[in-house]
Amino acid sequence: MQLTYEPVIGLEIHAELRTNSKMFCSCSADYSNAPEPNTFICPVCTGLPGAMPVLNKKAIEQATLVGLALNCSINEFNTFARKNYFYPDLPKGYQISQYELPIASKGYLDILDDTENPLRVVVRRVHIEEDTAKLSHEKNYALVDFNRAGVPLLEIVSEPDMRSVEAALSYATKIRAILRYLGVNSGDMEKGILRFEANVSVRPSGSSELRTRTEIKNLNSFRALTRASAYEIERQIKVYEKGGEVMQETLGWDEARGVTISQRGKEDSHDYRYFPEPDLPPLQLERAWIDSIKSGLPELPDAKTRRFMEQYELKRQEAMLLTSEKSLADYFEDVVSKSKSPAKTIHSWIAGEFMRYMNDSGLALEDIVLPAEKFAQLIDMVTDKTISGNSGKIVLNEMLNAKRGGDPQEIVKAKNLAQVSDTGFIQEAIENILSDNPKEVEQYLAGKETIVQWLMGQVARATKGKADPNVAKELLAKALEERRN
Ligand code: ADP
Ligand code: MG
Ligand code: ZN
Repeated sequence: MQLTYEPVIGLEIHAELRTNSKMFCSCSADYSNAPEPNTFICPVCTGLPGAMPVLNKKAIEQATLVGLALNCSINEFNTFARKNYFYPDLPKGYQISQYELPIASKGYLDILDDTENPLRVVVRRVHIEEDTAKLSHEKNYALVDFNRAGVPLLEIVSEPDMRSVEAALSYATKIRAILRYLGVNSGDMEKGILRFEANVSVRPSGSSELRTRTEIKNLNSFRALTRASAYEIERQIKVYEKGGEVMQETLGWDEARGVTISQRGKEDSHDYRYFPEPDLPPLQLERAWIDSIKSGLPELPDAKTRRFMEQYELKRQEAMLLTSEKSLADYFEDVVSKSKSPAKTIHSWIAGEFMRYMNDSGLALEDIVLPAEKFAQLIDMVTDKTISGNSGKIVLNEMLNAKRGGDPQEIVKAKNLAQVSDTGFIQEAIENILSDNPKEVEQYLAGKETIVQWLMGQVARATKGKADPNVAKELLAKALEERRN
């Protein structure tokens, strides 16, 4: 019998925090807008001997928010540690991090809740650390820019609870959404503001052992995360099938070649010689302060999804699409509140034509100017049959292309799209179509009733979509029957 394997995946996620200043000094943390390399720097973030770090309160606040959002316990007493290693992007020779007592631990995140296998992933810990400088490799030398050094960084570590690439993707996507909901991270992976490391092992299906894992570093997109994990799963299975052993190591991902590459043997935590950071006292958080941060938590994707399902009678998938981004969820509710049409209808417009436009144009919601009120007016014009659904799509695209929104009523007038239920006008169109298409009429009379659909299409075309379909249908049926004898 062929042995089948089960993947085991745990993710480490690094997220820069969105603070004004760096983690331990007052330099600006907005390094991507620095005028030049090595301008947002000082003795602390360049690691000069004797420079003393001071904690950034905003970063502690944001880390606490994330811990709470991930259902963690916040450790009122937590400590900083030195993680010692040498690299040109870390002139101090150590990174200030948290080790034994992180700011938050033992939380969870529910994922895959739109599938048949929903899963609760345990979040082992959330801790604070600092980002390193940035190296750029030239031909025979490397340049170091310290503008990023010391930017607050959060590390979110999961238990090895995921059993598929799909689960890892779902977890990563949801973490990103939550960070964006909280406003603590832009979620920009291309710029490295959010980055993933995947720990991957495989084991015989049904077994509960944890086998040797490899760690794939610096995955800078969801695509890289899924491709690299899938590749690594296959690679390890092949190793076992050949009777080999998987080696514990740190891997890189070669996007162009689609392979993982060995970077170094994996270091164990004792290699870093962690010890308590002597320049920073332990952090003692007050219960009341934690509670006040908690009361500032926004409604998060799961809760919003549940509320949308109840309040707006949406299916889970429909609600999840809208709540994937807070701005989209807010926009939906804004349109609903300004429209007389059912929420379901609003959802259809947003999920359909509106998102199609976003995808085609590559624009983010923030870049689209369509006041909710105007969108609501347009949808209502379709609902009350002032215009047809097709005309509605035309008007919507006009409004979106107009950049400043545009007025649906004016566009309908200018394009002469108002729907007509004037029977004379429709009747005339039908008579013309029936006399132009005697064969089809004959087929209908011979019992081929599906031909009605085709004839309706002709009516829509002849009237440029302006004929009220219900009226047209009735008139068409009558006209056909009249030709029966
Ligand atoms: P450390 O990095 O301190 O050595 P661990 O090795 O326990 O900590 O875990 C680091 C990450 O690797 C975690 O996200 C964890 O879920 C994951 N992990 C640990 N063991 C395995 C394994 N056998 N297979 C897949 N992932 C694992
Ligand atoms: Mg690691
Ligand atoms: Zn500094």
